[in-house]
Amino acid sequence: MKPFKQSFVLILMLSITLNLVGCTATPSAPNSNPPPSLPTELEEKDYDIQYFTDRIDVLYEYEPETAVAFVVTTEQGTYHFSDNEIPVETVSEYMDAFEEGIKFANEWFGQSYDALKLYFIQRDFAMLYDNTEMTISGSGVDGVAWIEYDDSAETPPVFLASHVLMHETIHALCDVHSETTNFPKRPEPYPFFWSDLFEEGLSTMIEHLYGYHSGKLHDVYVYHYTSGYDSSELLDEVNSVAEALDHLALKSIKVDEFYDELPYDILQSYYTSASFLYYLYEHDGGGKENLRRVYADIDLMEEIYGKDMEGMIEEWLKYLEQYEVAK
Ligand SMILES: [Zn+2]
Repeated sequence: MKPFKQSFVLILMLSITLNLVGCTATPSAPNSNPPPSLPTELEEKDYDIQYFTDRIDVLYEYEPETAVAFVVTTEQGTYHFSDNEIPVETVSEYMDAFEEGIKFANEWFGQSYDALKLYFIQRDFAMLYDNTEMTISGSGVDGVAWIEYDDSAETPPVFLASHVLMHETIHALCDVHSETTNFPKRPEPYPFFWSDLFEEGLSTMIEHLYGYHSGKLHDVYVYHYTSGYDSSELLDEVNSVAEALDHLALKSIKVDEFYDELPYDILQSYYTSASFLYYLYEHDGGGKENLRRVYADIDLMEEIYGKDMEGMIEEWLKYLEQYEVAK
């Protein structure tokens, strides 16, 4: 997730509260354009495709002209494409990449959620965001994940779109599977979705795991490295999830201002929390189940890992130091 302008957030929160839980599409006046021909590349696959003449009035009711071009239903969820301009061949490429990433996300949680709704939407970013350089963004909550890209920009590359959609899907599934944490949230002025940095860390960590397992770790790393900071140097190769996350964490520690009024302030960033969570994931072979328990309740840290939060953060920072020297 990226920071939105406040007005957008309020509209979106309202929209979510009133409408997003359960259903997103409201019937409205039919689209006057005749439906385009069915994409044959998609027909050949085991997807159910429908042209959709409703509009995304509920998600974006303040911009009712945004029309859904078509909907693709798979075993993993329902994908809504709003962009009439995307060539059908490209949709097939998007779908392949989306499905791979969403499957990985579902596997992390160990169960699928067939009511998942996924939106791929073209938007006017100038109306929405302060950051004029941003061209892709997204959010995920309660079984609904969406990504959007600037209507003045090129259609985002398949890798980038699938990667961001997967991140947002993890947020959407955290709600569905009640994967919540008592890690302290960021204070004002960040009271909304992106204030939960352990959830951001978990999403970022799973993205890197996916990158590793799919052979795209370097792409994931480069995306993260260049999205938040000026990039001056990149590792030519990243060989492991730990290497990618640790490098990002070190960069983040040097650049970010942390929230020193909060406990565990050093973990109040996507990359430091992702690196820390991955450290726990690997720690003493504890794996996923131990990580999930301590993610849900950080007070279990000592019982599970033998040291309390402060102790484990200290141990993780020491490990990062050694890693930095080793580089
Ligand atoms: Zn996020």
